[in-house]
Amino acid sequence: MSHQRPLLAANWKLNPVTAEAAAELARGVLGRGERLSTEVDVVLCPPYCWLLGVAEILHDSHVELGAQNCYWERSGAYTGEVSAAMLAGWCQWVIVGHSERRSHFGETDEMVARKLAAALESDLNVIACVGEQADDFDSGRSADTVARQTDVLLGEMELHRLRQLVIAYEPVWAIGSGRSAEPEHAYSTMRAIRQRLRERFDQAATEVRLLYGGSVKAANVAAYVELPNCDGCLIGGASLDALEFSRMLAAVAEVYAGAAGRAAE
Ligand code: PEP
Repeated sequence: MSHQRPLLAANWKLNPVTAEAAAELARGVLGRGERLSTEVDVVLCPPYCWLLGVAEILHDSHVELGAQNCYWERSGAYTGEVSAAMLAGWCQWVIVGHSERRSHFGETDEMVARKLAAALESDLNVIACVGEQADDFDSGRSADTVARQTDVLLGEMELHRLRQLVIAYEPVWAIGSGRSAEPEHAYSTMRAIRQRLRERFDQAATEVRLLYGGSVKAANVAAYVELPNCDGCLIGGASLDALEFSRMLAAVAEVYAGAAGRAAE
């Protein structure tokens, strides 16, 4: 939790399989969560092919739309790719560097940095993912790994783009495994990311929101957003259930409402 507005982003991955089911999920989130989306920033990231349909449903709401990936070239002979410039016409957000893109599709830190740069240039807000593998976690190298990934991502990034950037810390061993990171571990690793941002951008580093992701659900989301350096969560599996997602939204809103109450005392 910080002074920033909290953000809850839903990564639907390769789900749902039909347009009808995607529309139903989007309507479910909107129906149950729209009131809370005035207190918590909410971003839904469906597969490319459902972006248009979901955009129509979210139109006139506070809930924003994101893609799960993009390509760095604007146009050209790149069969099967979708550019950041194309996405900018449909959504406000894009995820880059998700660990499934890195592990299944061979994306390197350098490729992710190019995607990030292209997305920022297209005026998209970006959720850039970093996170250590299980062996780095086991050998106590989590902070070093994410610091190195963050350095590569930041590349030539310009100060005026910082507001568009969100960094999601997602330990790879926690994604989809049901084994979420201990909040203390998330705290110390995210502190390393913030430190890198500070070294590079000084005070402006606080403009970048940091999320935790990895087996987050309604029952544990508060434990992460209560951390002083955590501004929200990136949710995979649990975001496919509108009721569960709305419970997470309510839990995040409650943490922030409690903090505002304490500050006012
Ligand atoms: C993710 O896909 O970014 C993610 C965190 O997945 P899950 O919540 O299912 O672990």
